[in-house]
Amino acid sequence: MTMQTAILLIKIVASGAPQGLASAARDAEAPRTAASADSLSIVFLANAGVLIEAGARKVLVDALYGEGLNYLRMVTPSVRERLEKALPPFDGAALILATHTHRDHFNAEAVAGYLRASPTTSFISTPEAAEAVSALQPPIAAGRIHASAPADSNYLAGSAPGVTVRVLGLPHGPTSVPARNVGFLIAIGGFTVLHIGDTRVDAALLGRLTAPAVDLAFIPYWYFLDPAGEEAVVRALPGAQIVLMHVPPTESDYVKSRGGWHTLLSGIRTRHPNVTDFGAELERRTVRKSP
Ligand SMILES: [Zn+2]
Repeated sequence: MTMQTAILLIKIVASGAPQGLASAARDAEAPRTAASADSLSIVFLANAGVLIEAGARKVLVDALYGEGLNYLRMVTPSVRERLEKALPPFDGAALILATHTHRDHFNAEAVAGYLRASPTTSFISTPEAAEAVSALQPPIAAGRIHASAPADSNYLAGSAPGVTVRVLGLPHGPTSVPARNVGFLIAIGGFTVLHIGDTRVDAALLGRLTAPAVDLAFIPYWYFLDPAGEEAVVRALPGAQIVLMHVPPTESDYVKSRGGWHTLLSGIRTRHPNVTDFGAELERRTVRKSP
């Protein structure tokens, strides 16, 4: 993937209605949302799943994935039920985003369950994920399901205040089950938030695609398994607070050989205090802009 990596700009009306999505001009820069907040709230779900909140505005990323994969972290059944029925604290999301169709990030029935229970919510993902949700019965209005592929460069605009999403074509890292992966640059409450799913692209490319500024980045932990990767990512995202995602419940031999995840993370945090990981399910963090 090169710099032709496509960017899809989508702006969503946070107050809700899917009619806020309408095609407009092409653009390459994500406008800041009109409504700024002093802080963001982020709530960990499991694996790469997170709820992002700015005031009443909510976005769920990689949060609805059904049964998941048994060797990775999964939300507890009660949280899963609340997610799939759009019940508090997960209700009223303006958007559900899914980076790719792997079973630890996405499940069509789970996404459809939320969309049916929450008529003002829209879904953005890859064409494969969008198609899987669209194929389910009873059908969900096509205007609420948005497919984005690296070749896309449409700009869908609504009126501010709201949530603006740029979709980045970032290929999945090495995998035995190939899938198209996208990243999301989310402008919400005056913050720019990056979630890159399971990509493993060169950190410098990440920096170029996400410039000028990312306030908060959800980055898969594997970038930090070696000092060079760690340095490159931190350098590529200056000023960002970085939350490590996709940390497996069982430590690999490699992680064990480095003293275990806790030791590894504490070394990372000593070198880079702006890097952290999530702990338990439903852990909530308040994120403020870096001074
Ligand atoms: Zn994956």
